[in-house]
Amino acid sequence: MDKKSQRFSGKKNENNKSRQSNFEMRPKKNGEAPKVNGGVFIYSKPLSVSELSEAINTPINAIIKYLFAQGKMVTINQVLDDDMIGELCLEFGYDFKKEKVVDATHFEELEIEDDPSKLEERSPVVTVMGHVDHGKTSIIDAIRHTNVAGKEAGGISQAIGAYQKEWKGKKVTIIDTPGHAAFTAMRARGASVTDIVVLVVAADDGVMPQTIEAIDHAKAAGSEIIVAINKMDLPGANPNRVKNELMAQEIVAEDFGGDILTVEVSAKTKQGLDDLLDAILLKAEMMELKANPNRYAIGTVLEANLDKGEGPKATLLIQNGTLNQGDHVVVGTTYGKIRRMNNELGVALKSAGPSSPVSVIGLEEVPEAGDRFMAFPSEKEAREVATARALKKKEEERAGTAALTLADLNNIVNSGKIQDFNILIKADTQGSAESLKANLEKLSNDQVRIKVLEARAGAISDSDVLLASASKAIIYGFNLRPDARVQEKAKEEHVEIRTYRIIYEILEEVEAVVKGMYQAEMVEHILGSAEVRHRYKLTDVGVVAGSYVVDGLLRVNAHARLIRDQVVVYEGKINSLARFKDRVKEVNKGYECGVTLSNYQDIKEGDIIECFEVIEKEEKNG
Ligand code: GDP
Repeated sequence: MDKKSQRFSGKKNENNKSRQSNFEMRPKKNGEAPKVNGGVFIYSKPLSVSELSEAINTPINAIIKYLFAQGKMVTINQVLDDDMIGELCLEFGYDFKKEKVVDATHFEELEIEDDPSKLEERSPVVTVMGHVDHGKTSIIDAIRHTNVAGKEAGGISQAIGAYQKEWKGKKVTIIDTPGHAAFTAMRARGASVTDIVVLVVAADDGVMPQTIEAIDHAKAAGSEIIVAINKMDLPGANPNRVKNELMAQEIVAEDFGGDILTVEVSAKTKQGLDDLLDAILLKAEMMELKANPNRYAIGTVLEANLDKGEGPKATLLIQNGTLNQGDHVVVGTTYGKIRRMNNELGVALKSAGPSSPVSVIGLEEVPEAGDRFMAFPSEKEAREVATARALKKKEEERAGTAALTLADLNNIVNSGKIQDFNILIKADTQGSAESLKANLEKLSNDQVRIKVLEARAGAISDSDVLLASASKAIIYGFNLRPDARVQEKAKEEHVEIRTYRIIYEILEEVEAVVKGMYQAEMVEHILGSAEVRHRYKLTDVGVVAGSYVVDGLLRVNAHARLIRDQVVVYEGKINSLARFKDRVKEVNKGYECGVTLSNYQDIKEGDIIECFEVIEKEEKNG
């Protein structure tokens, strides 16, 4: 039997194996019924005394008596809190565990805990990152082509966003879009696909700004880092210099006493690529990457597009379970049946397991990169879940995605939930960035842990905003102002940037959040003003101030005050604005308009209408 048919016959058997559904024990609306399993009491929602009594097979009286002895008076129908349930379980001889209830619509929140006996080794998923021109693309291509006997592989390589490299009887999955922009954009959408980041540093160029960015992104994602020192064929290659420079970024090579694997390579001469693959496998082995092939597939969309002939086409990275041809999948908010599935060599597959990237056809719509997918045992289930998700997404879009702001963090702290407070620091000098970092980290307490993901000198960049968005972090700028483009990006990504010129004030602000005592300071922002030139009355509308905008603009619904001889005679809102007969939302400087004020008619010629908004104060001493 040749290799190929062997592979297929092997897969065929697997095909017939029944796979476990990810929502086999789909909780009912109110959660799974409590149960005892191997001496462990498992529950998911608060229970009354009588419910607990039944579930742990203990008389109601015994429970009431025990609690009474602790000074707690309870009745049969009283609902017990988690502490009481835990205490009672231990008292009556059970261990206990509260399960999180996730319904299928929110499948990305599902935490799969596979029975260790069902877990099998899976191959590592690798992303290549580093500074521009250091050779990321060259390394990705060179690895793809080392030792590939084209015929044996059975196809022609296709660009599907990732490929699997067979090496020493194992496989390595390599994402073939290099760079941290895609990596972090995906993470910002909640998808984390990379186990290992190969950080490429050119031996003749050393650590450069994007090298540092890549390190920050990899660390924030919790990925392991392997360093590939590339371009070793060049006469100016100086790997020791690279390692020294990396040390300044807390990336310490093994031969410098650290635990980071470094490999010297040349994508040009192919020198060292074998060692790089060995290093990846070694790291993967240490990480003990595992998955359960005998469940329905779960994973992430790496890329997607509309193919003219075949319709929506997507590359899926399977992260757990097995995907079979014919499976019903929910991808993002769309649904589909896997009509055809092939690997990066265009070879059609009946079945693909954990860590495989596959290109699939059969989806009803084109999903987005970073969307999660899950296969379901029946078409009905998949359709239901996809419809519910699409609906939910529409609602969210309507509501606007909530940003994580200082005010939100403050509320989370007040609700008593333990929370990481992620911060990015950019400052005018490395010294102040580091001093700020050290001082901020000291503010952590039992409830809130302050994590400074990055503390560096230099302007706030797009990459910082992406990292903050992916890590739900706040950016502090010290003695810096983000430029308009970065501010725009921050707005798009719902990232809060705070700029200060006094370190103490940053510390004060963060401390307030940590203590749940932060209150956003509101300030007035003047939008513009207009002079009332004449006053007239319209039936249905009332008194209209015929005005001329002398400065800025007027806006409907914005705050307004009416000033007469420097005295404020009214404060309220602009009710309506009109230009000729048309209602408008805004009127700019130099134009005439008709203005009405909410609940106010006593307008006089010569009055000044000042228009303003009240916004959260962004900075002090700015
Ligand atoms: P990327 O921007 O990091 O993806 O870098 P590329 O892979 O596009 O490579 C940038 C340039 O460096 C190209 O001109 C490559 O031919 C060259 N290059 C990449 N690897 C090597 C190497 O190992 N040795 C030499 N001499 N040149 C290399």
